[in-house]
Amino acid sequence: MSAPTMGTTATNLDTMIKADSIRKSYGRLEVLKGIDLHVTSGEVVCLIGPSGSGKSTLLRCINHLETIDAGRMWVDGSVMGYDLKGSKLHEQSHARICRSRVEIGMVFQHFNLFPHMNVLENLIEAPRLVLREKRSTATARALALLESVGLADKAKAYPRQLSGGQQQRVAIARALCMKPKVMLFDEPTSALDPELVGEVLKVMKDLAATGMTMIVVTHEMNFARDVADRVVFMDDGHVVEQGPAAEVIGKPQHERTRAFLASVL
Ligand code: ADP
Ligand code: MG
Repeated sequence: MSAPTMGTTATNLDTMIKADSIRKSYGRLEVLKGIDLHVTSGEVVCLIGPSGSGKSTLLRCINHLETIDAGRMWVDGSVMGYDLKGSKLHEQSHARICRSRVEIGMVFQHFNLFPHMNVLENLIEAPRLVLREKRSTATARALALLESVGLADKAKAYPRQLSGGQQQRVAIARALCMKPKVMLFDEPTSALDPELVGEVLKVMKDLAATGMTMIVVTHEMNFARDVADRVVFMDDGHVVEQGPAAEVIGKPQHERTRAFLASVL
């Protein structure tokens, strides 16, 4: 592919995320060994794979929380690119990168709510500081989002007063308050007691139904079967196979995929 002069020229209008030969090392440990991933607008992708395969690192590269060593990453038309020697090819302005990060919501395994703020304050903090919204505007949206995750009555509660499932639903609402175009989930239910997993997956399923573009790292194969448009299996820094859930989970083509599924199913 020839080098684009503008970020949008190498991606079509439907493209939300395009990762092209992404490499990332920590010191001498190469974690991403040439990742290609294309996510279209409105698509729900479940990213599965063994611990240490590079799933979290890939999400962090998409969200610009990590720089990449080689390859190119487009998010909603803005590009962060490096050639193979690591020198920057066409990084957009810092402001553009920051804007792009604002457009990506991220939900982690540990909910990371601000413990000294109540739920509503957690939700309106970033819209006020980053989007410079009026308190009334941010509050109206926050209350609507709390309602959508089933927590309309918890606006004044503090995180410690909520169950893990409720805290994670608040974390999802908080990310949505920034009006992201993409939501990244990194094992959002892995820290929860089993009986609380369902309420969080339900909120994520509802979100998928609104047309949100989502990448979900998860070991919940039933969620992947039920909600994902595509399942991507990663192992040892590579995408090993991908396709519809029924194929990747139901009829895996690679031995490594079969071995992984045997360990989680
Ligand atoms: P996964 O999410 O699939 O479990 P990660 O992306 O978290 O995998 O990690 C992949 C590898 O990179 C692991 O060997 C991990 O120890 C290593 N790693 C991740 N983050 C860092 C870091 N900040 N510094 C050094 N090594 C890291
Ligand atoms: Mg991880």
